Amino acid sequence: MTTATQRVYNFSPGPATLPLSALEEAQRDLLCLPGVGASILEISHRSKTFEEIMRAAEENIRKLLKIPSHYHVLFLQGGARLQFGMIPMNFLRGTGRPADFIVTGSWGASALKEAQTQGPVRTLWDGKAEGYRRTPTPEQYQINPDAAYIHFTSNETIEGIEFFSEPETGDIPLVCDASSDFLSRPIPMERYALLYAGAQKNAGPAGVTIVIIREDMLKRCPDDLPSMLNYRKHAEAKSLLNTPPCFAVYIVKLVTDWLLREIGGLEQMYAINRRKAALLYEVLDRSEGYYRGHADPQCRSLMNVTFRLPNEALEKKFIAEAEKAGFMHLEGHRSVGGCRASIYNAMPIEGVQALCEFMKDFRERNPA
Ligand code: PMP
Repeated sequence: MTTATQRVYNFSPGPATLPLSALEEAQRDLLCLPGVGASILEISHRSKTFEEIMRAAEENIRKLLKIPSHYHVLFLQGGARLQFGMIPMNFLRGTGRPADFIVTGSWGASALKEAQTQGPVRTLWDGKAEGYRRTPTPEQYQINPDAAYIHFTSNETIEGIEFFSEPETGDIPLVCDASSDFLSRPIPMERYALLYAGAQKNAGPAGVTIVIIREDMLKRCPDDLPSMLNYRKHAEAKSLLNTPPCFAVYIVKLVTDWLLREIGGLEQMYAINRRKAALLYEVLDRSEGYYRGHADPQCRSLMNVTFRLPNEALEKKFIAEAEKAGFMHLEGHRSVGGCRASIYNAMPIEGVQALCEFMKDFRERNPA
C-alpha cells in the first residue's frame, strides 16, 4: 500500500503538490462522506450536500481574498485556456473597441492570440524581445482610454515572472490570469474586473477554473452566446448551469479550509512563500554564476523559480539526480528548457530547504 511516507517533494508546475491534510481528508471520506452514505463522486450536483460543499468553497475563497459582495465567484470548466477565448467573446467581440494586453511571458502571449480570434487587440508592452525576464514599470506602457479591457498575467509560470502590484489602468476593466499565483498572497480585489485561475497549482486539482467577476461586467455579456460561454448565465445559475466538476470543487474546499485553518490566511501564506522563494534565490545568487536565474531579481516569481546550469548536459544530470534523490519535476517547460522549481503554497519549507542542500552539494560535485 502506498502511504504518505512514500511521497517525494514534488516541484511540478501543475497539477501540483497538494496539502497532505487535504489529501488525507479526501482519502478518509472517499467511500462515504460523513452522514451522507455515499461518496462525493456519487452524489447529485443538485443535492444539498454538494451545494453546501460548493458554497463552502466559495465562502472560503471570499474570506481569503476579502472579495467584496458585488463580485461573483464562479466554478467553471475548460481550464484557464477556455478563459483566453471566453473573455474576448464576452467583452471584446462586437464592442468596436480593442482589448489591450501586457505580455510578460508565454501564457500572456497565448491569451492575446486567442483574443485575436474575437476582435482587435493591442499590445501595450511585450517582454519577448528581452526573453521575458521582467514586468514593465508603469512608465513603460501607455493606457488607451478606448480599450475594452486590459489583460495581464500576474505570474508567468513558464518564465517565472511575477507582478507584485497591479498595472494602473484607471477606469479600464482590469482582467488577470492568476492561474499560478492565485491564493498565494493578498491582492486588492477591487482593482480587478475579472480574475481567473485554473485550480491545479494552488487551489486544487485540474478540472475546475475559478473566475471572480465584478457584477457590472455581467451586463456586458452578449445574449447571443451559447449559455456555457456566457458569464452572466453561469452567475445566474450559481455555477450549476450544468454538472460541475464536483470532485475538483470538493478538493478546492479542502485546500481552502487548510489555508484558513492551518495556515491562517493569505498574509501568513505570503510570508511563508516569501521565505521559501528567498531560500532558493539565495542559492542561485551565491553560486558564482553556476545556477543562473532567468528573471530579473525584482520580478522573480515566488511560485516558479526558473534557472539554468552551466550547460545542458549538467542540466540533464541535475534533473536526473534530483529525481533519484526524491525531488520530482525540476525540468523547465518544454518550450524553454532549463530547470524550474515550482514551490506553490502546499510545498513545505522543508522541501525547499532539502532542495537547496541538494543544489549546493550538486554544484560541489559537478564543477562547470
Ligand atoms: N495560464 C497560466 C499562467 C498557466 O500557468 C496555465 C497552465 N500552466 C494556463 C494559463 C493554462 O491552463 P489550463 O491548462 O488550465 O488551460
